[in-house]
Amino acid sequence: MLIVMQKDATPQQVENVVARVRSQGLSVHLSQGAERVVIGAIGDDRAVSKDQFMLLEGVDRVLPILRPYKLASREFSDQDTRVKIGDREVGGSAVLLIAGPCSVESRSQILEIAHAVREAGAHALRGGAYKPRTSPYSFQGLGSEGLELLAEARAATGLPVVTEVLATEQVQQVSEAADVLQIGARNMQNFALLHAIGETRKPALLKRGMSATVEELLMAAEYILSHGNRQVILCERGIRTFETATRNTTDINAVPVLKSLTHLPVMLDPSHSTGLWQFVTPVARAAVAAGADGLIIEVHPHPEEALSDGSQSLKPERFAELVRQVRAIAEAVGRTVAPPLGESFPQERDNGRRPQF
Ligand code: PEP
Ligand code: MN
Repeated sequence: MLIVMQKDATPQQVENVVARVRSQGLSVHLSQGAERVVIGAIGDDRAVSKDQFMLLEGVDRVLPILRPYKLASREFSDQDTRVKIGDREVGGSAVLLIAGPCSVESRSQILEIAHAVREAGAHALRGGAYKPRTSPYSFQGLGSEGLELLAEARAATGLPVVTEVLATEQVQQVSEAADVLQIGARNMQNFALLHAIGETRKPALLKRGMSATVEELLMAAEYILSHGNRQVILCERGIRTFETATRNTTDINAVPVLKSLTHLPVMLDPSHSTGLWQFVTPVARAAVAAGADGLIIEVHPHPEEALSDGSQSLKPERFAELVRQVRAIAEAVGRTVAPPLGESFPQERDNGRRPQF
């Protein structure tokens, strides 16, 4: 439930309510708004009487959160969450672009592509050091060497790094190298991993499982949020359907549906959702038109030589064209694409415009 304090509630009154919430076995999530404090009392509150809180000094009202994903729900926060990635953020009016290869393959490959995507306007570099592969005989990633190469690419370009963490034991190591921890589709319901990432304070990019419902995605996000990490970004990456013409089916509906259900930023990955580079740019345009806060795109200097996901990887010049097209779409729906790193926002940082859903 949400306990909304009166505008003039004193710190002592807030403290009393917090103590009462804890004494009921619920956890406390404090939000200090511009005008008033809102206390999220989260946990199994079925046996807890809401009325007792109404009687406490300084309490204005008590509201139930009806959704099972309490902290992720729009009911919990009417303000959109913005997650900082380097100097930029995702979840405001500007669209954020993450680009790079599926896997880090070599020093020259990652440095070349990092410079190229930065030049084209990407705001962060993606690249897997630990790779979840369907076959144990496929390239599994360079592991810790890959993380070092990503750190080198970040130092050379200034691009923050987004990379996948596959297992709980890797969380600490990957957190040291990464700016954003990617949780892959295959791990969306790895609850131990979600818990461990919830204990960090690193932004997490949570990809939707290929057979997961929107509600299951939000419940997975709730695992991270409930352990204290509020910096969660959701990512639609295509789901399994009967259709075989593409690797997955982009659930474009998920974008406005998620935006209506949660305050968390929503990104879309048209590379994995289509599996074919020819369809990446059109689906990227659709994502931004539908209200996505950002895109994550696979780009490789030589897709035909890629050790993973070459068929869905754009060449750098095609990525540059995608950025141009997406910029036009963003403007058509009242948004912008965040300016390239090193350039400032034209007028104010955020014009507050949001598409309405
Ligand atoms: C990836 O981003 O390379 C990846 C493996 O994505 P997903 O988990 O969505 O399949
Ligand atoms: Mn990939």
